[in-house]
Amino acid sequence: MGEAQIHHRTCPLCEAMCGIVVEHRDGEVLSVKPDREDVLSRGHICPKAVALKDLHEDPDRLRQPLRRTVTGWAPIAWEEAFDEIEQRVGAIRARHGHDAVAIYAGNPTVHNLGAMLGIGDFIRAVRTRNLYSATSVDQLPHMVASHAMFGHQFLMPVPDVDRTQLFVCIGGNPVASGGSIMGAPGFARRVEALRKRGGRFIVIDPRRTESAAIADEYLPVQPGTDVFLLLGLLHEVFASGRVSPGHLANNMVGLEALREAVLTFDPAQLAARAGVPRGRLARLAHEICDEPRALVYGRVGACTQEFGGLALWLIYCLNALTGHLDSDGGMMFAEPAVDLTRAYGSKGHYGRFRSRVRGLPEFGNELPVAALAEEILTEGAGRVRALLTFAGNPVLSTPNGRQLDRALAGLDFMVSVDMYLNETTRHAHLILPPTSPLERGHFDIALSGFAVRNVAKYSPPLFAKPAGARHDDEILAELTLRLGSRPGLARMAARAKSVVPRMLGPDRTLDLMLRTGAYGAEYRGWVKLLAALPGLGALRRQLAAPDRRPVNLSVRRLTGSRHGVDLGPLQPNLLRRLATPDRRVQLAPDLHLKDLERAAAVLREPPPELVLIGRRHVRSNNSWLHNSQRLVKGKPRCTIMIHPDDASRRGIVDGGRVRLRSRVGEVVVPAEVTDEVMPGVVSLPHGWGHDREGIRLAVASRHAGVSLNDLVDDQRIDALTGTAVLNGTPVEVEPMAAA
Ligand code: SF4
Repeated sequence: MGEAQIHHRTCPLCEAMCGIVVEHRDGEVLSVKPDREDVLSRGHICPKAVALKDLHEDPDRLRQPLRRTVTGWAPIAWEEAFDEIEQRVGAIRARHGHDAVAIYAGNPTVHNLGAMLGIGDFIRAVRTRNLYSATSVDQLPHMVASHAMFGHQFLMPVPDVDRTQLFVCIGGNPVASGGSIMGAPGFARRVEALRKRGGRFIVIDPRRTESAAIADEYLPVQPGTDVFLLLGLLHEVFASGRVSPGHLANNMVGLEALREAVLTFDPAQLAARAGVPRGRLARLAHEICDEPRALVYGRVGACTQEFGGLALWLIYCLNALTGHLDSDGGMMFAEPAVDLTRAYGSKGHYGRFRSRVRGLPEFGNELPVAALAEEILTEGAGRVRALLTFAGNPVLSTPNGRQLDRALAGLDFMVSVDMYLNETTRHAHLILPPTSPLERGHFDIALSGFAVRNVAKYSPPLFAKPAGARHDDEILAELTLRLGSRPGLARMAARAKSVVPRMLGPDRTLDLMLRTGAYGAEYRGWVKLLAALPGLGALRRQLAAPDRRPVNLSVRRLTGSRHGVDLGPLQPNLLRRLATPDRRVQLAPDLHLKDLERAAAVLREPPPELVLIGRRHVRSNNSWLHNSQRLVKGKPRCTIMIHPDDASRRGIVDGGRVRLRSRVGEVVVPAEVTDEVMPGVVSLPHGWGHDREGIRLAVASRHAGVSLNDLVDDQRIDALTGTAVLNGTPVEVEPMAAA
């Protein structure tokens, strides 16, 4: 038996990017502990970190490609699987065109270095308009607002939590999530520090969440009405003459149009519909204006509602008009070592084409995933007949999961790149499993851009890749080659073009990105020569940008800095980075301004009697990690929370089984009678529903729960962005008769 060894790395499971210390021996993980010196997390981890061991050792994790046969799943060699994909996708395209093949990319894609570097080429190779991802179920309104106001979809502001004095959190639960579009590990500790320096943390949410439990003030709000709450706050700012945009004052346009639009609303009506006392709403607006270091942050709950697009726009406007955008202690813009806003990410675009069946707008070449099932099920030219999924489980994570289940079952061909045989991949004809997270290098290319402090952390692989296994980037590279090339000379050209990125691999590509980024220093030397090679256009663009603070970042330097490299606090930088054509903040984009009419119409309608919202738990990670016994053990967590008044009116008792019904489906689930939720609101966690036939998730299927998305209506979307309305589904609930 060898000696136990220590390995430092970053946990890749969520946006918090915690530093962890893994003790291991002879290929076995002995323990996972917090890294107290990590530059971002400073000793914080959550219970999910140990699931990295469970994930790595999970007997249900797939380790070789599988092919569905009439007698069940059978192993298949990689080359044979790729040959079959090339042949079958080719046949479908030849007969029905490129749009007949759809792609769905799940949330883990952004936590994976190789996937982030390879997915773009893969998408371009497939050349389909039917591109879908988890973006349209959790963050599209942020991206649409950032694109419209700042000119780039990835210029999303993050809270300067460590310097603010007033943190107003709308529809977010960072204590449970670790922060989202806000990498803030140890959020509770950061709130404690905020309070010690005399600041306040206010949570606005329909549920008294784990974050509300540590707040100085909790304000309940009716689900789906954040747009009215925000209009109420802005109304008070305008009506009382408190507009004070600070250093952005001469660099914004649309102020008068915004003022005029907001002042047409009746503040009493806005407050009443949001369910927040009018006086409190007005006072809150003044508290935000009075405090030089304040911020208003909104997250999943705010953006996954009927007016999510408007809500996020209004949040950005509120920060901008009160001097809290791009200023210390406000909502600021991170400047990471690899900057997606500089060279590698597209600025974004809206509505260049629309979905075939419902005419929903694309954003950044993606269509809203709420449209995927109908694009498969609706006959006609352009129907989706094949699907390629990458690290996603849309049956559990996107609206009307039962409908999507039926749609996937009828596809001509489906391929999943995934570690598990789950509720979605069970419909695939081929499953291609990548290596485990501990067998590959890690760097958060996307999420470092949303951390509350500029940091750079690289983790080398802990374990060697097993013989015959493939990393995500290798799978994507082969699929890119097989699906992107045409016969003859074009095929040879494609092969030649793919040689450089393949030769480099993710780590060396990352190295080039770091060296040529804002914190690199070897700008003008051999890197520039290398960047002239085909396939490295992004590097060439990166080289054209000025450096900010060279600290000689490279993979080698980061490998030697096992706790990461601190690149300093967030700095005001928006004026330098604005990407709008006139290089000004657009306060009143047409798209958003027009959508206010829709909100005004709904404001006049009576609200539904009972609505469903989701919830997140610190031991869950969306639809996965439920196959870890240590994370799912204990009291069942998939319960419907219902207020005591609503429960007693319906004869529902704590622990009793209830039937919950929406327009699209129904589930039976235990009730949890609690005043944690407001009257008129019920809450069900998302990511459960492991009771489908044919999955290979032994632990998860013993703790199956029910899927929130079996109730979420695919036809109820935020019309502005196409985002699924996960919060605010009208439902009915009734007790089940005792057996
Ligand atoms: S909060 Fe938990 S899951 Fe997220 S990075 Fe930290 S340890 Fe990992």
